Amino acid sequence: MTATLIDGKEFAARVRGQVAEHVARLTADHGIKPGLAVVLVGEDPASQVYVRSKGKMTVEVGMNSVEHKLDVDTSEADLLALIAKLNADPAIHGILVQLPLPGHLDEDLVINSIDPAKDVDGFHISNVGLLGTGQKSMVPCTPLGCLMMLRDHHGSLSGMDAVVIGRSNIVGKPMAQLLLGDSCTVTIAHSRTRDLPDVVRRADIVVAAVGRAQMVPGDWIKPGATVIDVGINRIDAPEKGAGKTRLVGDVDFDSCAAVAGAITPVPGGVGPMTIACLLANTVTACCRANGLAEPEGLTA
Ligand code: NAD
Repeated sequence: MTATLIDGKEFAARVRGQVAEHVARLTADHGIKPGLAVVLVGEDPASQVYVRSKGKMTVEVGMNSVEHKLDVDTSEADLLALIAKLNADPAIHGILVQLPLPGHLDEDLVINSIDPAKDVDGFHISNVGLLGTGQKSMVPCTPLGCLMMLRDHHGSLSGMDAVVIGRSNIVGKPMAQLLLGDSCTVTIAHSRTRDLPDVVRRADIVVAAVGRAQMVPGDWIKPGATVIDVGINRIDAPEKGAGKTRLVGDVDFDSCAAVAGAITPVPGGVGPMTIACLLANTVTACCRANGLAEPEGLTA
């Protein structure tokens, strides 16, 4: 391996430390404790794990964590009523509705019912528009984490060629907006892109957010490029024993690390940054709600 390893686990711990310091100051100087409400509808096992770890880390940085666990058959009206209550609650600064929602609930309607100022996932249509027009917004956590790692590694990203593989609303599109905001020349590649290897080979920065195990091989990577692997894919790992699995990203780590200048691992890269950025967004939302200075370096 020749690439520098960008250690998301260590970086995320640093971000959580900064958030904790800011929370401590808010509480000591202003008597304010940021509050994050997480709403989970149903019992999807993966969502339950995410919600538990979000709650634990929220408390660890000194914020209030409020969890609302609703039955799988909760009506849209009841869910919207809960969100309206949280919107009006001055002790709640961030609201996150865990996705995916059960099929009978309209995800867009639910997300757009959250007060944009409390939309710490950055999925509300107002925040999407603000980000797209370069205005102050709540920024989706996963792309924000990727941007923080890129800025930390490179300093300025100005003028760099960036290729984002994937055009989802939660990762690909906001990632492209953020890179554009930092003056990269951005290409968004997707399932219909012609000659993807050639497109990726032009990039100084590659962000892979596809959801296909190890689909980007090393010979697509320009020597010295920075590779950010957002993908989380579970594959069989017979080497660990019968029936065992392991997590891999969207890039083939070994072959890409032999060519890239820097690369994030999976696990331990983008993943830990996502929750750290959720906490960062909550403290940012709290500061904005109270007309106080925002923490440095924790927003786009
Ligand atoms: P998605 O399914 O919504 O979007 C996938 C995108 O990949 C689509 O835009 C599609 O056009 C593109 N795509 C599909 N096949 C392609 C191909 N062959 N070539 C090029 N592009 C192709 O997925 P998502 O929600 O954006 O998530 C992407 C991956 O990132 C998943 O593995 C997901 O688990 C992971 N993820 C990780 C985190 C984290 O915290 N690390 C957060 C969100 C998503």
